Amino acid sequence: MPTVAVLRIGHRPERDQRVTTHVGLAARALGARGMYLAADDPGVIKSIEDVVARWGGDFFVENNVMWRRCIGDWKAGGGRVVHLTMYGLRMTDVIDDIRNQDRVLVVVGAEKVPGDIYGLADYNVSVTTQPHSEIASLALFLDHLFEGSELNREYPDAKIRIEPSGAGKKTVES
Ligand code: SAM
Repeated sequence: MPTVAVLRIGHRPERDQRVTTHVGLAARALGARGMYLAADDPGVIKSIEDVVARWGGDFFVENNVMWRRCIGDWKAGGGRVVHLTMYGLRMTDVIDDIRNQDRVLVVVGAEKVPGDIYGLADYNVSVTTQPHSEIASLALFLDHLFEGSELNREYPDAKIRIEPSGAGKKTVES
């Protein structure tokens, strides 16, 4: 399975904090290794780092990256870039090919994305050809990429974990 990181572009601190935090939390919970944020928003970074500190694992978040440089560095290191967009190729047609790559950077937008992203990406991928959300498209993409294997991951060094239960809430703290 490829190593995956997410690049969040177009984040507007005055209105996207909650959605971008959820992009990071969904990325972490569904098997990505980290998120690059192409904006300066330490509050978002802190929220995600607080979750990592408590719930374990080694998910990274990097604030204020230059998105062009991030994509350039990723490609220079031999990684592939996937841009999630409703205009792209159907996920079901390209996911097997993407799964065979070593390193995958998944780019998700907020508002309208810069047009050159489409040319910089190795794959423009649609998760349905309907407009919806970066969180939903990222979640479905990661789940199909990892074929569900991400769903029961363990998170090393967790201070708290959940004991799955049919009723009520069971947690174990260490
Ligand atoms: N109107 C914007 C545009 O034209 O680029 C898209 C806004 S949408 C709320 C934010 C992000 O969600 C997009 O940049 C894309 O990454 C993701 N997204 C939304 N619908 C998608 C779809 N059907 N397939 C893949 N990604 C999607």
